[in-house]
Amino acid sequence: MLTCAERKAVPLEVWCVYERKGGHLKVKPLRIAMLSIHSSPTGDLGTKDTGGMSVYVRELARELGQRGQHVDIYTRSFNVQKPQVVELYKNVRLIYLHIGKDAQVPKLALYPYLPVFLRELEAFRTRANIHYDIIHSHYWLSACLGNLACKYWGVPHIVMFHTLGALKNIAGPGELEPELRIAVEKKVVKECHRIIVAAVREKGNIVQYYDASPEKIGVIPCGVNLDRFQPGNKPAARRQLGYGRDETLLLYVGRFDPLKGIDRLLRATAVLQQYILRLVIVGGDDQQVTASQKLRAQVKKLGIQDVVDFAGRVTQNSLPLYYSAADVLTIPSYYESFGLVALEALACGTPVVATPVGAMESILHEGITGHIVQNPSPYSLAAGIETFIAKEYQETHSAVAVRSSILAYDWSHVASAIMEEYISLREEQKSRAGFTAPARFLACQN
Ligand code: UDP
Repeated sequence: MLTCAERKAVPLEVWCVYERKGGHLKVKPLRIAMLSIHSSPTGDLGTKDTGGMSVYVRELARELGQRGQHVDIYTRSFNVQKPQVVELYKNVRLIYLHIGKDAQVPKLALYPYLPVFLRELEAFRTRANIHYDIIHSHYWLSACLGNLACKYWGVPHIVMFHTLGALKNIAGPGELEPELRIAVEKKVVKECHRIIVAAVREKGNIVQYYDASPEKIGVIPCGVNLDRFQPGNKPAARRQLGYGRDETLLLYVGRFDPLKGIDRLLRATAVLQQYILRLVIVGGDDQQVTASQKLRAQVKKLGIQDVVDFAGRVTQNSLPLYYSAADVLTIPSYYESFGLVALEALACGTPVVATPVGAMESILHEGITGHIVQNPSPYSLAAGIETFIAKEYQETHSAVAVRSSILAYDWSHVASAIMEEYISLREEQKSRAGFTAPARFLACQN
C-alpha cells in the first residue's frame, strides 16, 4: 500500500497509481479505445439490442475514468448533425462514428460497414492526435473492428464477446446466428491478445467451441452499482407500483429475446395458479412488436391474462422499486453470458430463481439467496419459485443478508481487475520485439 505522503506526491491526473498484491506499480494514465459500435452505452436499456453490455461499458468506463485513465468509447452515430464528442464522465468521452446512414439496421447489416467505421475512427484519432495504449472491444462486430485497428496501431487488443454465436445456436430458441459471425469470432479468438469473460462457464465454452487456449482467457465477473441498487421498503414499493401487500409478486427484468426464456416463465406461472400471484414483466420495446405480440398470445393461450403485467421498459433509477416490491426475481434463460439482473435483485435484497446459465452458480447461495433449477421444465421452475415465495422463506429471510452476499461484486473491483489485464498486456507488449512500433495506417477503402 502507498503511504499518505506517497499518495499526495503522485497526483492522479499525472500518474495512475495501481496497487497490486505484493507491491504497487506506477503507470502513466492509459489511453483506452473502447469499441461498442452497435450499441451505445447511453442507449435505452431493455430494448432489443441494449442491455447488460451497455451497462458494462458505461460502468467500467466510469470507474476507469475516476482512476485517471482516459477512455474514449466509440459507438455508431445516427445523426451526423449531432456533436461527435460527448463528455460522459470524468476522463470518459463518447465518440460517435457516422457511417453515412442514419437508419436503424439489423446488427448483421453493420458488418460490411466495418471498414467505414475504421476509416472514421482513424480520421478522428489522427485529427485529435491521440495514440491509444489499448483497444478494448465489446461484441463480435466491435471485436472485428478492434482486430483491424490493432494491426494498424500496433497496440494490444482485449476482447469481451458478451455473447457467442455458437453458444446462442446451441442454446436453442431464436433465429440461428449466421456462420459469418461464428467465423469472425473464431478469427478474433485466434488473433486478439486477451479475452475476458464474466463467468467460468463461458471460459469453458470458448475453449470447447472456439478452440481458444485457456491461458488467453481471463474470468472477471461483472459488477453492480451498489449505490443505485439498495433494499427498499417492500410494502411501500408495492403501494407505489399499485400492487397489494398480500399478493405474491414474481418479477422478470430484461430484453425480449427468445433466449431469455420468458415462455418458460409463463408456463411456470400457469402451474402456480393456486397462489394469489402476479408476474410483472419489465423490459421490451415498442419496436419489437412481434416479440411482444407472441408473449401476449402465449399469456392468452395459457389463460393467465389476469396475473401477468407487462410493465414495459423501466429506467435503472426506477428498477430498485420493482426489485424491492418483488418476492422473487426469475431468470428462466436458455443462455446468458453473466446475468446482471441477478446481482441487481440480490443487491436489493430479493432472492433469485434461475436456470443454470451465466454466473448463477457463483452468484447464488443455494437455498439461501436463490435456487438454480437444473431441469427447466415448467413444473421444476414452478417448484423452485414455490420455495422462495413460501411464507417460511419470506418471513425469515433478511434483505440485508441477501445483499451482503454480493457486496464483492462492485464495479470498482471489476475495474481493478481490468486494469490488471491492461497493465500486463502493456508489459507483454514492451517485452515483445517488433510489437511496439505502430504500423502506419493505410487508407481504408469503402
Ligand atoms: N434493464 C433496464 N431496464 C429494463 C430492462 C433491463 O435498465 O427495462 C437493464 C437491467 O437493469 C440490466 C440490463 O438491462 O442491467 C440487462 O442485463 P443482463 O445481463 O441481465 O441481460 P443482457 O441484456 O445482457 O442479456
